[in-house]
Parts: sequence; C-alpha cells; structure tokens
Amino acid sequence: MTDSSELEPGTAGAAPAQSGHHNLDPHLNRYAARTAGMTASEIRALFAVASRPEVVSLAGGMPNLAALPLDTLSTQMAELIAEDGLVALQYGSAHGVPALREQICEVMAMEGISAHPDDVVVTVGSQMGLDMVTRLFCDPGDVVIAEGPSYVGALGSFAAYQAQVVHVAMDENGLDPAGLTEALTQAGRQGKRVKFLYTIPNFHNPAGVTLAVNRRAEILEICARHGVLVVEDNPYGLLGFDGQTYPALRASDPDNVVYLGSFSKTFASGLRVGWVLAPHAVKEKLVLAAESATLCPPTLNQLVVSRYLATHDWKGQIKTFRENYRERRDAIIGALEQHMPAGCSWTKPDGGFYVWVTVPEGVDTKAMLPRAVTARVAYASGTGFYADGFGSRQMRLSYCYPTPERIREGVRRLASVLESEMDL
Ligand code: PMP
Repeated sequence: MTDSSELEPGTAGAAPAQSGHHNLDPHLNRYAARTAGMTASEIRALFAVASRPEVVSLAGGMPNLAALPLDTLSTQMAELIAEDGLVALQYGSAHGVPALREQICEVMAMEGISAHPDDVVVTVGSQMGLDMVTRLFCDPGDVVIAEGPSYVGALGSFAAYQAQVVHVAMDENGLDPAGLTEALTQAGRQGKRVKFLYTIPNFHNPAGVTLAVNRRAEILEICARHGVLVVEDNPYGLLGFDGQTYPALRASDPDNVVYLGSFSKTFASGLRVGWVLAPHAVKEKLVLAAESATLCPPTLNQLVVSRYLATHDWKGQIKTFRENYRERRDAIIGALEQHMPAGCSWTKPDGGFYVWVTVPEGVDTKAMLPRAVTARVAYASGTGFYADGFGSRQMRLSYCYPTPERIREGVRRLASVLESEMDL
C-alpha cells in the first residue's frame, strides 16, 4: 500500500512486512515474497492528526451519505429480517443473489450496457472485483497498463500480485490513445506480457477527468489489436453533475472488457456491494476465485440493496447525491480560483469526487503535507497515485465530504501554506 491509501477509506492496508517496526517482528522471515509490494504508510501518524475535527480533510474519498433516507432504510431492513430473515442471514452463492444480479443489469443499462445476469458476479465492493481480476490474470512480473495517476486501491492490488504497472498519461480528455499505443509497443519490444489496461473512464479518481467519447472506440481498438484485455472501473459513472452519462467501454466490446461496478457511491459504501461483469468465458473462473476469497458476498447486504432498488426512487436519490456533489465542486473550484497562488493548475471535474492539482516546480506535496496538517488542512499527495514515484508536484483534493463552507476554508488554508512554501 502506498501512503495515500491511508487517506482512502477502505483501502488502508496493514503492511506488516515493511512496517516501521519490522525489527521487532518475529515473523519477518515468514512473509510471502508478494508482501514486499505492500509498503507501510509514512504518514500514518499524520493521519491521526488529519482526522481531528479542526482539520479540514480534503484527503479522503468518503461518500457523503447525509442525504440517505435512513428512516425508510431502517423500516426496510426490519421488514427484510421479519419476512426473509432465514434467507438473509444464511450463506448464499458466490455468484450473488439472482434478483440483485438482474437489477444490476438494469443499472448498467443506463450506460448502454446490455448484459445477462449470469455474467454478473456480486463482490464485496468493486475493490474485491479488482483483487479477483488481478488474481485471475496476473503472474508476478506481468504488466498492467494504467492511467497515470491511478486509483490507489487498484495500485495496491496490482502490487499485491507483483504485477508491474506502466502508466500512460492523461490530458483533460482522459487517457491518451497515442501514449497507450506507445506503451503497448514498447512493452512488446521488451518482451513483456501485458495483461490488461486498467482504466477509470468517468470522473477519474484521482484526476477528475473523463475519457472523451471519441477516444473510446480508439482505445478499445488499440487494446484489441494488441491482444490486451480492458478492465473498466466505473464507480462514478452515474455522478455526472448535469445528469450526463457516457457510453461504457463494455457496451461496445463485451468480449474484451471486464467491467467493475459498485453501489458505494450511488447508495451506501458501508454495505460493501459491488459487482464484476465479465466476458462469459471468464465468469466461471471469477466465481471460483470469489468463492475461495469470501465463500459468498454478504446475503443480508445484497438483499438490502435489492429491496432498496425495487422499492425506492434510487434514481432520484442519485440525483440528490449529484446535486450535493455539484455544490461542493462549485465551492472548491471557486475557492481554488480565488485563493491559489499563480503557477498552480487543476482539473475541472464534471462529476465524481476529485480535483487534481499541480503545484509550481520546487514544491514537493509530500514534504509539504505535515505543514499543511499543522495549518489544519489535509490532502492526498500525488506520489501515492503512481507506481513509479512520479507525482511529487501533484495532489488530490476530495470535495465529496466536507460542507461547501469547510471546503472554502480548507482551500484558503492550503493556498497560504503553498504561498509560504513557494517563498522558501
Ligand atoms: N475504484 C475506484 C476508482 C474507486 O475510487 C473506489 C473507491 N474509492 C473503488 C474502486 C472501490 O470502491 P468499492 O470497493 O467501495 O466499491
């Protein structure tokens, strides 16, 4: 795990092999070689401080759940236990609850995907999907192509299976097709086995950009031509601020795209319900891998999601979430424009949770973080989002959780820390 994972809820991993206390660890010689890729956080101590209420945290990616209809949900959960408790509290199949798999197909249809419920495997969040897919496809040393920067939890999974990550740059239109071709050609020349392209096409974590529609076919064509699978990770696709959706990569090339979905951002992250839609031939292996990892995803939580989708205006709920996030996006972009020193630049997300900021040369965001926390603002420094140490002039700001007022105050504090950093 990288240091920023400490600030990403749900992806903060204990890292025994390389923890700061390894001299005291009597098990040191026992760990599997793959644990070498799990690195401990250098800012774990800082994290405790960053979680204090006086610190404005723009670091974590926690969804803002305040708008959830808790009364309705508690009634629904009570009904579920009363009516169907012996099923809800029992083991289920590793494949997932059939009714939910059908509903998941309806959710995916909103982004142009036509899928059969048989090809959907329910997972414990899409994080488990990432882990399963990497487990299925990657031997040590295999290459995964990923956007640079990329999602810290995915980098953690790739490291855990000892895959080598090759980053391809993005611009404001997402992944650069020419860069992708170049990376694939170079890997081929070096005799490396590229297993898949891992991409987050919509409202990227951490970059905040979206893959332009006219690049989508091109990227699929490049991957097909090089015999490389596409892993499309799309937890934010329904969180476009104007209600806009983009055609999923999976919609155009079902045989070569594994799609990862999640209810974490459109419903409730703590239920840990996500899914993988795999090409038919891959699905059977996925179910076996999932079975060996967890036996089955939690039946109760799947039934909660299923009942919610069947009885609640879930699309209206997503609209409310989107409006909350848009208000926060407006707050952060307005504050950045007002306060940030000259020489800084940032992306302007049309959906999702994140802004990616680049600071002037000479400023190191990782080195600056303790000073920012002292000034009562926290962010995720850029290097955690790269497998290769790049990103020291970048940082991710998450606007999803704090109130607009706190966001503005956080950016004010950040700007003044940056200013003193630039004077040094
Ligand atoms: N992929 C991306 C791009 C994410 O941002 C996240 C959550 N931060 C996940 C996957 C994991 O989501 P979950 O396991 O909650 O579905």
